[in-house]
Amino acid sequence: MAFGFFKDGDELFNAALEEINRKEYDKASKTLSKALDKKSAKSDLIKVYIAFINVGKDLNNASYYTALSSALANLGDSSFRFGLSEFDKDSLIKECDAMAKCITARAVGDDSSEARGKAELDAATNLMAVVGENTLRINEYYSGNNITGTRMATGLMAEANECLAQSAYWTDPQKAAEYQQQAYNYRRQNGESGEANLTRMQQYSKACTCWFCGRQVVGEGLHFYVMSADPSPQQIDKDSKELQHSISEGHDLYVCRACYTGVSRRADAISNDYYNKGMDNLRQSEARLQTQIAALEGQISRLQSQISMLRMNR
Ligand SMILES: [Zn+2]
Repeated sequence: MAFGFFKDGDELFNAALEEINRKEYDKASKTLSKALDKKSAKSDLIKVYIAFINVGKDLNNASYYTALSSALANLGDSSFRFGLSEFDKDSLIKECDAMAKCITARAVGDDSSEARGKAELDAATNLMAVVGENTLRINEYYSGNNITGTRMATGLMAEANECLAQSAYWTDPQKAAEYQQQAYNYRRQNGESGEANLTRMQQYSKACTCWFCGRQVVGEGLHFYVMSADPSPQQIDKDSKELQHSISEGHDLYVCRACYTGVSRRADAISNDYYNKGMDNLRQSEARLQTQIAALEGQISRLQSQISMLRMNR
């Protein structure tokens, strides 16, 4: 026989309210689940509370926001209290759906930066339209930060343009620089320095003449690289008069991607050949040494038996 009294659904619900006020969310979640089993009249609100607590466990989990949105859709009342805060049902549904969309967009794989950029643009535009200048209530409740939908959307716009820049850089460095300019503007709007965007823009628009093939190339770090070399003072002087330089300020060479990869791969192949030849020589030497060791061992054992014979005959 167990002692104790059994609370009914409403008593459990009231107990959970106190736990929520004390910010004991794990406890409250368990109490609410028990209340749900007891067929409380407040079961719709209980489901909302459980979902609201789950969102608080991980503010970057889209499925928690979606679950809260679904629970809210079944709520009869147009508003509800959670802890000390009052929430409007309809605007919270919109916030949840918009946040789920933003988080999902951010999770689009790194290998498809164009798809991710487009999804983020879409999600940010939606967040601006739906939440706009209003505060993101769930974020405010759990983190204490007063961030508006617009502010979060602006940050996401910056990320989106950075993704699109990354994707465009391969085929169109000029377009990529434009995306970085957009990203810079958004970062500035949010009070950030945008330094990284400026650096990328400079990189994207930097042009050179390939030292090897003489082709003009735009886009450092992807379309051309800097290669360590030792040009003579005469060559450095001559290059400084060219419109697009082939020699960097540090006197290294600018080399287009095709020449760079061509030289690198040929150098790899040559060093691989040397390596294989070296290993062959090493194996041959080893085999020779093994034969010599075996011969020496034979001689030693013969000498040993001769010594034993001599001792026996003494
Ligand atoms: Zn080249």
